[in-house]
Amino acid sequence: MSGVTQGNAAKGAHRIAVIPGDGIGPEVTAEAVKVLRAVAPVMRRPVELQEFDWGAERWLRDGTTLPKGAMEELRDGYSAILFGALGDPRVPEQVHARDILLGLRFQLDLYINLRPVELLDERLTPLKGKRVSDIDMLVFRENTEGLYAGVGGNFKKGTADEIAINEDINTRKGVERILRAAFEAARGRRKKVCMSDKANALTYAHGLWQRTFAELKKEYADVEATHLYVDVAAMEMVRAPERFDVLVTSNMFGDILTDLGAAIVGGLGLAASGNIHPGRCSLFEPVHGSAPDIAGKGLANPLGAISSMAMMLEHIGEGAAAARVQAAVARVVTDGAVTRDLGGMLSTPACGDRVADAVGKAA
Ligand code: ATP
Repeated sequence: MSGVTQGNAAKGAHRIAVIPGDGIGPEVTAEAVKVLRAVAPVMRRPVELQEFDWGAERWLRDGTTLPKGAMEELRDGYSAILFGALGDPRVPEQVHARDILLGLRFQLDLYINLRPVELLDERLTPLKGKRVSDIDMLVFRENTEGLYAGVGGNFKKGTADEIAINEDINTRKGVERILRAAFEAARGRRKKVCMSDKANALTYAHGLWQRTFAELKKEYADVEATHLYVDVAAMEMVRAPERFDVLVTSNMFGDILTDLGAAIVGGLGLAASGNIHPGRCSLFEPVHGSAPDIAGKGLANPLGAISSMAMMLEHIGEGAAAARVQAAVARVVTDGAVTRDLGGMLSTPACGDRVADAVGKAA
């Protein structure tokens, strides 16, 4: 029998860093921790939680974003990070969010942004006639390169002659490892990988994706490997989502396609994600942001955060506990025991209670 402790290292425990962050981050993270406590008894090893107060309040107080040495501490001392959300209207240009989240993503080299797009109840999809079995895909978004690598600059800024450039960075190593991760995942699912790019227009950058994909296809001959240009992929996700099992794509296209993915299965409140480097300390967070408009009102849907926690359990080798949490989330959704964004009546903590109860009952 395992359990959850706060700060005191139990022998062989999973050490989890908890960063609740801003806005609705702390509210939804509290529910994810509640469900983690409920599932702890069936876990193979105990869990030790350590909370970090990085976020807008801390930045406003003392200017701290990601403290010196924090990355090394997390990388060497923790199995995973459970993250809420960052973003606060009081912080200019969200410097704290950029430093903390992008800092961790790049410094921990979390090259996989993994986002499941799974329909839990037919009532939640805006797509006519689509059933639960029609929408079940796993999106692998490259997370450290591409147009979001921050390489570029301005020339003659603020003048009529200004030039603004963001370079699209694609390395052979970066492309190969995300494609490989997608192929590996497909082997444990329906054995189908679709790569999406825009090689017809971005001939150099996405030509590299095409050539690398063609090579890996031979190595993973047991997996059905197909390709769609990103504009077609967006259309097909709406028209025929059942075509997709594992979808792999670049950083920016993944950003866009996964928001579309969230929309076809019930919206931002439900969407979960992992920022992963296999075998290393990885970060799990709901897809939504800090939603300042609803913060502190008990309106936030905690299911995205709870599902992200389930993904974290999977990552740390607690697959049975992860499956139990996912089953509990599916159960509350079909029971309608949800928050207002999904058409329910429950508050954030009441919804978290229902998931925790369902986890316990399955025990
Ligand atoms: P960011 O830039 O941090 O992504 P954003 O304002 O663009 O922030 P969100 O913070 O995700 O995006 O919020 C978008 C809207 O979606 C919010 O105004 C809120 O109404 C709704 N929303 C987001 N997350 C949730 C949630 N967990 N439960 C209910 N509604 C949510």
